[in-house]
Amino acid sequence: MDIIHLLPDSVANQIAAGEVIQRPASCLKELVENSLDAGAKRIQVIVRDAGRTLLQVIDDGVGMSETDARLAFERHATSKIREAQDLFSLRTMGFRGEALASICAVAQVEMTTRRAEDETGTLLEIHGSDVVRQEPCSCPVGTNIKVSNLFFNVPVRRKFLKTDQTELRNLLTEFYHIVLVYPKVAFTFVHNDEILLELPVGTEKQRIEAIFGNPKRNVYTSSFVDVNTETEMVTIRGFVVKPESATKKAEQYFFVNGRYMRHPYFLKAIQTAYSGMLPNDYQPSFFIYFDIDPEAIDVNIHPTKTEIKFADEQTIFQILMASVREALGKFTLAPQIDFETSGNIDIPLPTDTPVQRPQVTVDPTYNPFHTRGVIYPDKAPRNWETLYEGLQHTDRLADRTQSTDLLEPELLRAEDVESCALWQYDGRYILVPGTHGIVIINQHRAHAAVLCAQYLEQLSLAQGAMQQLLFPEVLSLAQDEMVLMGQIKEDLQAIGFDLEQLSPDSYSIQGVPSQIATQSPLPVLQHILNQVRERGADTQREWREQIAQAMAESAAIPYGKALTEEEMRDLVKRLIQLPQYKRASDGKIIASLLSDEEIRRRFA
Ligand code: ADP
Ligand code: MG
Repeated sequence: MDIIHLLPDSVANQIAAGEVIQRPASCLKELVENSLDAGAKRIQVIVRDAGRTLLQVIDDGVGMSETDARLAFERHATSKIREAQDLFSLRTMGFRGEALASICAVAQVEMTTRRAEDETGTLLEIHGSDVVRQEPCSCPVGTNIKVSNLFFNVPVRRKFLKTDQTELRNLLTEFYHIVLVYPKVAFTFVHNDEILLELPVGTEKQRIEAIFGNPKRNVYTSSFVDVNTETEMVTIRGFVVKPESATKKAEQYFFVNGRYMRHPYFLKAIQTAYSGMLPNDYQPSFFIYFDIDPEAIDVNIHPTKTEIKFADEQTIFQILMASVREALGKFTLAPQIDFETSGNIDIPLPTDTPVQRPQVTVDPTYNPFHTRGVIYPDKAPRNWETLYEGLQHTDRLADRTQSTDLLEPELLRAEDVESCALWQYDGRYILVPGTHGIVIINQHRAHAAVLCAQYLEQLSLAQGAMQQLLFPEVLSLAQDEMVLMGQIKEDLQAIGFDLEQLSPDSYSIQGVPSQIATQSPLPVLQHILNQVRERGADTQREWREQIAQAMAESAAIPYGKALTEEEMRDLVKRLIQLPQYKRASDGKIIASLLSDEEIRRRFA
């Protein structure tokens, strides 16, 4: 007896629905994407009970003929591709022809639709894949789909839905992903008769502001910097926030060819571009739109997945990082927190009190009237405002932790460190009484910063001390690492590595810098290569910094190591001689002040 048979459509559709429609949000996404594919200029979304009871999408797109309306709910019925080849030139959002079939398998659907050329429209009602009604009707041009009682026939799925609050949040998230790409389409979103979003036609910036420019989301387009790079491989456009507008909870959006995507690797590129500019747990908000030949990305992905594979991710990583850096560069030459010429603001104007300049730039000599981070009013040139022309004022200096930290001119003076008592706390921190309170220094980061500066100097003088290895080690590398190695080899030798290419994919290491002689050189070298690659160093100065930094991290005293008072004093003295000692080059805090004021307050 034959045992293989075809599943009835209704069953097959339910199975497909499990993939495509997991929750109200995925249903909404499919419906709105269909409306966009249909060329709609105005799309209304009406939701009840976070989509459990009702999800309705009304559009003014091209509509469907009577036959197409019926066909649209069949599996693999699509007007968007005809043959496999079409997949590679895809410019519509849908293409699988699965969504409507899946939705009608697990809900009660009522649709009215009409094309401009037809006098009457079509009404179609389908419950769990069964057509219960199809008749002519009068309706406007476009399509109106009502999906009621989602999962009415799949109790397990219904049970899996989260609270209304969570499902509504999912709906909105999905909605944002779409509307951010279509500012030329007007949208409304109504939930339980309340208009949650009313998005008129506008520019991308206006759309972003309409969604996120509120106290809850805190993303204002006045703090944006434009990113704009066109290369043969990819066009990258969009906006990133100025460093001082970064927050702990940021809005981070990537889009590729009009689709939202998640991309942890590209996120890293952006974070790297900001390195050294943000406090520890702060994040930049960004909205980045990639345009790329569809053949260079993997389109035939799962409909609910938002991760997209690019053909040449490393190159795009570099381009992205460079364009964000360039965009930020325009704003970091001048100090990042600027004065406001009028209005109420916490930072005083340089009138009668000395004003502390934030010291956040890499080049402390840039500002001509910059004396140890403090500006004295008599030294400020009269036309000082012109220095800040073109820099928009940030509306949010409310970030106390950040600004006090950045504004603190000098935490420690050499003469204080000479004689004061020092404590080690928790095997991690050195406590130093300073002029404005107790300075807490992270021992590992402090040592790494000191070493990094030393290594950089050794690199520039090519005088790293080398120690021969008794047994040479072999470092095996991937192809791209071999290329990198070729680039930075001379600098590795300058700092004390003795290495030689052994085969097309390996190097032998015969000697190491004496500072790291006690460690296995392989992880250190691997770490250096990773840093250089990830941070995208492409000038000698940049990769030298990465080499020095990576070596310093490997060689610095670890957490948990007990230090004598003299060791601590020596370290602190060296640390405060560095031009920038409060933060490491990657933005991590090295020294932090527990201020007098704060200490007093605790005993008030
Ligand atoms: P896909 O979008 O992958 O083609 P769907 O199941 O989502 O598959 O839709 C099937 C077809 O129904 C579409 O190809 C399109 O021709 C038609 N369709 C769906 N929604 C609309 C709409 N809102 N307006 C006009 N046509 C639509
Ligand atoms: Mg579709």
